[in-house]
Amino acid sequence: MSIKAPRGTVDILPQDMERWHFIENIVRQTFLCYGYQEIRTPIFEATELFIRGIGEATDIVNKEMYTFQDKKGRSITLRPENTAAVVRAYMEHGLGSQQGSMVKMFYMGPMFRYERPQAGRQRQFYQFGTEALGSMHPGVDAETIAMILQIFEQIGLAGLKVEVNSVGCEECRTNYRKVLLEYFQTHIDQMCSDCQMRLEKNPMRILDCKVETCQSYIRGCPTVIDSVCEPCRNHMDEVIKYLNLMGIQPVMNPRLVRGLDYYTRTAFEIKDESLGAQNAVAAGGRYDNLVRDMGGNITPAIGFAAGMERIVLAMKNKGLGPSGKQNMVYIATTSENVLDAAAALVQRLRADNIPVELSWDKKSLKSQFRQAANMNSRYVIVVGDEEIKQGKVVLKDMIKQEQHLVDVEGLHTLLAM
Ligand code: ATP
Ligand code: MG
Repeated sequence: MSIKAPRGTVDILPQDMERWHFIENIVRQTFLCYGYQEIRTPIFEATELFIRGIGEATDIVNKEMYTFQDKKGRSITLRPENTAAVVRAYMEHGLGSQQGSMVKMFYMGPMFRYERPQAGRQRQFYQFGTEALGSMHPGVDAETIAMILQIFEQIGLAGLKVEVNSVGCEECRTNYRKVLLEYFQTHIDQMCSDCQMRLEKNPMRILDCKVETCQSYIRGCPTVIDSVCEPCRNHMDEVIKYLNLMGIQPVMNPRLVRGLDYYTRTAFEIKDESLGAQNAVAAGGRYDNLVRDMGGNITPAIGFAAGMERIVLAMKNKGLGPSGKQNMVYIATTSENVLDAAAALVQRLRADNIPVELSWDKKSLKSQFRQAANMNSRYVIVVGDEEIKQGKVVLKDMIKQEQHLVDVEGLHTLLAM
């Protein structure tokens, strides 16, 4: 039996690399524009770092970590995310020693979580993200979100949804905890075993539960934004004010709490609704107490992480080619006799969101090909008299310079890529 890649992992093949490099180049360039410098931390760390940094009552620490003992019996974990490690490095190397200045770092690389693999969810996946340490200012929150949207726009993904919420500070959380305890007390027997554990350890984590029965109770629960103190409320208002100044209209989602324990105040998620169930392409928030909780000086901070695989999927869903341009398809006709058949085909492909152009006016095949080239078309479909009678057309790949006789019925799958 031949050996296959482990479940939940994938090979990124040479033919996919152009798209990955395209995204990575935009990401790097944009981060540098916003004053971030790269940091690379180890792929594995002491398990303790993630337990302390991410929080015991989280799904990541509870069920998703790849943990093993090394030859000396130390407990080691493959990093499930990068914030805890970046904060560790920040403290270990005294990066925040220059008083009053911010430290802004970005990373790109693989993360590991033991999850049920499905579209947009893998066990080894790639994230890029930033961490900005040293400022409480709401402008930094807004700037972080603006930077992410700028990246997505340059990739060709516009119209993403920005959801924001405030999860409050420690005091707000203590109050909210009481509110939640009271509310869930009466329902908890009907809820999943994870939620029963969460109610004891960190009731706010219940809001992130994906079990449907639990969700039905969660929908009726009081929201954290109603429990936040005035300074936290003001912070949220200021973030929204700055976002609006930057031309961004976020949507308040009062049930957004995020999967990690360390968030304070601003929490946000960026969604691409073309992606279905796994539609969050980036997520992040403020973590003003993490550095202190890990043994450092009090240092307010904000960061985010985005998932590469979901971005690649979103590009493909939108017909964006490796360079972020739409993969335009051009339909050429050999004579006016086939125009009706071509018109039907163009409509069917467009209904599947495949960008297609057809020349209605009578033109030579040569000038149609010239037009296709001018439009940067990746494919030209040639509808010919004889071929179309058999339900076939010629599909020409302009980049690979090859052509095949294909079934009209199969075109949709071939072009959806
Ligand atoms: P989800 O609710 O989808 O599990 P999460 O809250 O666990 O997401 P984060 O830890 O905030 O996600 O990670 C940030 C981003 O990384 C996500 O928005 C997503 O794009 C990506 N991501 C997270 N887990 C995976 C995974 N297992 N496979 C692929 N991408 C992932
Ligand atoms: Mg998750």
